[in-house]
Amino acid sequence: MTAGALYIVSTPIGNLGDISQRALDTLAAVDLVLAEDTRRSGRLLGHYGIRTPLMALHEHNERALVDKLSKRLQAGEQMALISDAGTPLISDPGFLLVRELTQQGARVVPIPGPSAVICALSVAGLPTDRFVFEGFLPARAQARETRLQELSRETRTLVFYEAPHRALDTLQALAKVFGPERLATVMRELTKAYETLRHGELQVLSTWLHEEPAQQRGEFVIVVAGAPVEEAEGDEAVRETLQLLLEELPLSRAVDLAVRLSGEKRNRIYRIALALQQSS
Ligand code: SAM
Repeated sequence: MTAGALYIVSTPIGNLGDISQRALDTLAAVDLVLAEDTRRSGRLLGHYGIRTPLMALHEHNERALVDKLSKRLQAGEQMALISDAGTPLISDPGFLLVRELTQQGARVVPIPGPSAVICALSVAGLPTDRFVFEGFLPARAQARETRLQELSRETRTLVFYEAPHRALDTLQALAKVFGPERLATVMRELTKAYETLRHGELQVLSTWLHEEPAQQRGEFVIVVAGAPVEEAEGDEAVRETLQLLLEELPLSRAVDLAVRLSGEKRNRIYRIALALQQSS
């Protein structure tokens, strides 16, 4: 290793076998490991017999640490950054530090490995040639629905991370805004003992999760098919018509007329009208 580098090291998202030899060698060789939760990462390093000192770097102290850490790197120290699971910076801390070091021209070295987004896409059975990673949706219902409305005409496959206590609400909101028939795959506890994968229409998936509270635990990735291209284009025309109608008529009347004008299904027109009304 040359002096003064920050190694961004991916660690397992569940199965401890999923760590690379290069990750282990790097974590053992650096002067310091920066970790979100030092107790948790201490156990991980201990499992592999690594005794490198740890320092906490998390969303609450990262900003304050950036200068100090960049000076230590300039002085020749070698450090690794890990997060609680998967790849640092992917819905995890590290961006502020990496941005600063990159702007300074310092050495930032990736040691790639697991990340739940790629792991989920690889088995979701939905197109992977283009995708959008949305991370966590807003926690509050209204903000979440607004964000989903903004995304409802996205034609690329969409990937969402979700906390267990919000997974059902999010699936219900997805079915409401994207339509009950849009295909998706719900993945839970990837690479762990209770790994679960369920593929189907959003409404069916939401009913399944509602009826099986035992499945509402653990870590979730939800991968959703993009909107069909014709539908996204058709929506634009329907939106323009609805926009005009809604200026003059109550919602149900505007929807009736738009259905007659476009020949589209009523529930789709109704969904678009609702979204328009809520965003105006
Ligand atoms: N940096 C991580 C990565 O590279 O995937 C993500 C960290 S983010 C704080 C944690 C979220 O990632 C979880 O809420 C869940 O949505 C997803 N996740 C992480 N591990 C997972 C697993 N084993 N199975 C399913 N989802 C997982």
